[in-house]
Amino acid sequence: MQDELREYRVTAEPYYQPVADEVELYEAAYAARMPMMLKGPTGCGKTRFVEHMAWKLGKPLVTVACNEDMTASDLLGRYLLDAEGTRWQDGPLTMAARLGAICYLDEIVEARQDTTVVIHPLTDNRRVLPLEKKGEMVKAHPDFQVVISYNPGYQSLMKDLKQSTKQRFGALDFDYPDHATETRIVAHEGGVGEDVADKLVSVAERARNLKGHGLDEGISTRMLVYAATLIGKNVAPLAACRMALVRPITDDPDMRDALDSAVTTFF
Ligand code: ADP
Repeated sequence: MQDELREYRVTAEPYYQPVADEVELYEAAYAARMPMMLKGPTGCGKTRFVEHMAWKLGKPLVTVACNEDMTASDLLGRYLLDAEGTRWQDGPLTMAARLGAICYLDEIVEARQDTTVVIHPLTDNRRVLPLEKKGEMVKAHPDFQVVISYNPGYQSLMKDLKQSTKQRFGALDFDYPDHATETRIVAHEGGVGEDVADKLVSVAERARNLKGHGLDEGISTRMLVYAATLIGKNVAPLAACRMALVRPITDDPDMRDALDSAVTTFF
């Protein structure tokens, strides 16, 4: 593997608990170098999944957290001025395409559409990346693949992917895992017993029922891992749940009461 990508290698196995047949499906998609879209709410395991798959496939992983200030140059690269004059520096997308990494564009909807379109020529059978500023056409390495994450809950008319972007990807749906699987994950990641993890998952399930009835998003697996970690560090369960599960997701006093009482039902 090229030296430039050494730091992007996933050397230790990232713990990932499969929920359905996503591992096999992703392997087939990678074999075809199909661009992939991981869809689902925040904190339900999309990033962990792609890390695990990069490790399993033995490919380096270049991750970009997308935001609305990001420009095409942030992905492609730019000329930099240094003591010797100007030199070109590849952006993360160009580096991944050139050297053969999996490029994970996290929360792609956050990026502006004029930024998003730079991935188009890489995600059809051309598999090229034109660097207009440099006057170069980069041919993607055979190992290169684009993966994007997408939270359908955040979509609005102003913020959505164009059909011309969406239709370049195969998609896998992610959601909060079933009770038993999520309990196992929370126990493993948070370092608590399954009895504690089971209660935390029950609290989350109550809260998830309130989505759309005063809550924009449910309590995620990530939040449960935080709560479990605090409990594992001897924070009293009620305080841990308030801090990690209730306070972050709502400022509404009634909703906080409702969630607090869900916590006291189980702890
Ligand atoms: P997303 O990318 O969907 O926002 P993450 O992949 O960062 O979410 O998941 C948040 C945390 O939840 C992870 O760090 C991990 O601890 C835990 N997690 C969620 N789903 C799984 C899973 N299926 N296997 C292992 N850990 C998981």
